[in-house]
Amino acid sequence: MALIQVKNLKRTYRMGDEIVRALAGVSVDIDAGECVSITGASGSGKSTFMHLLGCLDRPSDGTYHLGGQLVSSCTDRQLAKIRNSQIGFVFQTFNLINRTTAVDNVAVPLIYGRERKTHDKAMAALERVGLAHRGKHTPSEMSGGERQRVAIARAIVNNPAVVLADEPTGNLDTRTGAQILEIFHRLHQSGTTIILVTHEMAVAAQTLRLIHMTDGLIDVDKAITPRMRKELVQSDALAAIRGPEGSVFSQAS
Ligand code: ADP
Ligand code: MG
Repeated sequence: MALIQVKNLKRTYRMGDEIVRALAGVSVDIDAGECVSITGASGSGKSTFMHLLGCLDRPSDGTYHLGGQLVSSCTDRQLAKIRNSQIGFVFQTFNLINRTTAVDNVAVPLIYGRERKTHDKAMAALERVGLAHRGKHTPSEMSGGERQRVAIARAIVNNPAVVLADEPTGNLDTRTGAQILEIFHRLHQSGTTIILVTHEMAVAAQTLRLIHMTDGLIDVDKAITPRMRKELVQSDALAAIRGPEGSVFSQAS
């Protein structure tokens, strides 16, 4: 059974008299150990989908199984537990507590989980992102790239099965972004399932499977071949995906 099984997932928002269909019925399976990118125009539902996968929100309809468990019908309390133990979430804007040291930021999920030796475990997670020497510094004393590394350390401190990252390099320059992607590569190599949202095709090209969303639906879902990878890096995003006749993207997967 796939690690993530999503069937006809929907999320609607009510805005006054209007109903916004942010997610219009998404079905997808993602296996343990995959490395997937999710792309799509702004407003296509990427963040809505990630928040559902991360148990930060509930679907309006449809089902979501994580590790065989039907999380779409869990209580808030159960969801909080799943979020804390099985999922690491990385945000574009880092979402760290600014006046708290890096090591204490990383320890937050451990404290929620009532773990012991929180300091040592948090330091080990900082070590994994190459920031052990900055443990006593606060985010306000750090660069954007360092802050995102702290946020990744916090996301992985409980050794989650899946790490979800929503535009993790969106606030970083290209070089710093590349260092962050390198960390995701290493996590993937060590067996963690990675799902990352990006609107940069050069970033998506570094994953092994591309999911593209339009208007709250998945309209492309395919493995990234070496040829496709080259095309993604060279050409412009949407043109490459929609592609002219004969483009690798217009072939069935
Ligand atoms: P993306 O991350 O691809 O830019 P989002 O998932 O953030 O897209 O948004 C999808 C659609 O849902 C957009 O039309 C957006 O305006 C709408 N939306 C997202 N969050 C909310 C919300 N909390 N309330 C109302 N509408 C929302
Ligand atoms: Mg978004």
